[in-house]
Amino acid sequence: MLLYLNEITESKVVKNVEYVIAGDEFGESAKVKNVALKVEFYRAAEAVSLRFFGNATVQTVCDRCLTDLELEMDIDENYYLFPENTPDVDYFYSGEEIELDGFVRETLVMNMPGKVLCSEDCKGLCPKCGADLNQGDCGCRDSGE
Ligand SMILES: [Zn+2]
Ligand SMILES: [Zn+2]
Repeated sequence: MLLYLNEITESKVVKNVEYVIAGDEFGESAKVKNVALKVEFYRAAEAVSLRFFGNATVQTVCDRCLTDLELEMDIDENYYLFPENTPDVDYFYSGEEIELDGFVRETLVMNMPGKVLCSEDCKGLCPKCGADLNQGDCGCRDSGE
């Protein structure tokens, strides 16, 4: 999604973010499903402020038992962009437009949950037979070798 510099003024404007998720761009175990984000933008002197807010759903698995999990991510991230060659800043703009896709992707990545558990006392999988120990005892005993 492109934002044209000439539509960025000193008054805040909010637009819906259009973003197409490409395959497994967030890794194999986590998939982002619904991206419901808005972008708020305005200009302050030379700087352009971009704020992405809203939510997205991520499909992932329990770190211990690999059960499928779906989590809502609440998102609110701000970026300040400066003209090219401004020293000591992280983000730049140049030309007539700003490509938002990279910012949206970074915002989603920053909000991705790290290790998640289906419940705090998830018993995980048996290291010997791989059974889901939440479903009951598999009969193996971890008595050494
Ligand atoms: Zn689990
Ligand atoms: Zn077992």
